[in-house]
Amino acid sequence: MDVTVPLEGKVALVTGSTSGIGLAIARALSSNGADVAINGLGSPEQIDEVVKRLASDSERRVVHFSHDLSAIAEAGGLVEAATAEFGRVDILVNNAGVQHIASVDEFPDEQWHRLIAINLTAAFATTRAVWPQMKDRGWGRIINTASTLAFTAETRKSGYVATKHGILGLTREIALEGAQLGITCNAVCPAWVLTPLVAKQVEEKAAELQYSFEEAARNYFVTDIPTRRFVETDEIAASVLFLCSEAARSITGIALPVDGGSLIV
Ligand code: NAD
Repeated sequence: MDVTVPLEGKVALVTGSTSGIGLAIARALSSNGADVAINGLGSPEQIDEVVKRLASDSERRVVHFSHDLSAIAEAGGLVEAATAEFGRVDILVNNAGVQHIASVDEFPDEQWHRLIAINLTAAFATTRAVWPQMKDRGWGRIINTASTLAFTAETRKSGYVATKHGILGLTREIALEGAQLGITCNAVCPAWVLTPLVAKQVEEKAAELQYSFEEAARNYFVTDIPTRRFVETDEIAASVLFLCSEAARSITGIALPVDGGSLIV
C-alpha cells in the first residue's frame, strides 16, 4: 500500500500483532517511522522471527511484550511496560481478538468471558492506562479493530458479535472524552480477511461440507463480499495509518468499514 504518513518520533503499541491484521498494522506503522511495541501469542521462535523481520524492514525499534490480555491487569500492565521501554506511547491500536463459534444454548461461560476479556475489556484497560500521558501531551491516536459484525450479526457468534458492538460503543465514548484533548479514537471494521482466525473457520466449513479449502472460501466466505475477494491485511493497515495522520485530526468516533462493500448489501 503506498500510503505514507510521517511517524518519526512516535511510539505505537499494537495489541495482537504477532499475526494477521495486527502484524500488518505494526509493519505499516514501523515502516512509516514509528517505534513499535508488539504484543500477542506465539512460540518464542515465531515471535523472534516477527520482531527481527519488522525491525530489519523498517530500521525502527520493535519490542515484543508477552502480556496475556485475557486478564485486565495484564492489559494495563502492557501499557506500563511499553512506556517504560520506549518512554511514551502515542498510538494505541487495540487489535487483539479471538473467536468462539457455538449456538447460544451451547455457548460455554468460559468462552463468553474470554471473548469479553480479550476483545473488549482489554481495550478499555489499555485506553485507561494510556490516557494520562496522551492527555498531558495533548496528542493521541487510539484505533480499535472492530468488524462489520459491529453493525450486523451472524448465527453462532453471540460472544463475538456482542464484543464487536461493544467496542464500537467504547470507541464513540472515548472519542467524546478525547475530543478537546487532541486524542482521537476510531474503529476500523473489516469484513472477511484470510488470517489464522478465519482460516480456521474456512477449514471447519470445508470439513463439514467435504469441500476443498478454496471451494469453502469461495462459496461461503467471499460470497458475502460484493468485491468477491477477501479484504487484505495491508488494506486495513493503510486505513489505520491514515487515522494516525495529522490529516485525520478531525476524524474521531467513526467506524470505518474496510469491507469490499459488505455493509451495503
Ligand atoms: P489473528 O488470529 O491472526 O490475530 C489475533 C492476534 O491476537 C494474534 O496476534 C494473537 O496472538 C493475539 N491474541 C489472541 N489472544 C490473545 C491474548 N489473550 N493476549 C494477547 N494477544 C492475544 O486474527 P486477525 O484476523 O488478524 O484478528 C485481528 C483482529 O481483527 C481481531 O480483533 C478480529 O476480531 C478482527 N477482525 C478480523 C476479521 C477477519 O476476517 N480476519 C474481520 C473483522 C475483524
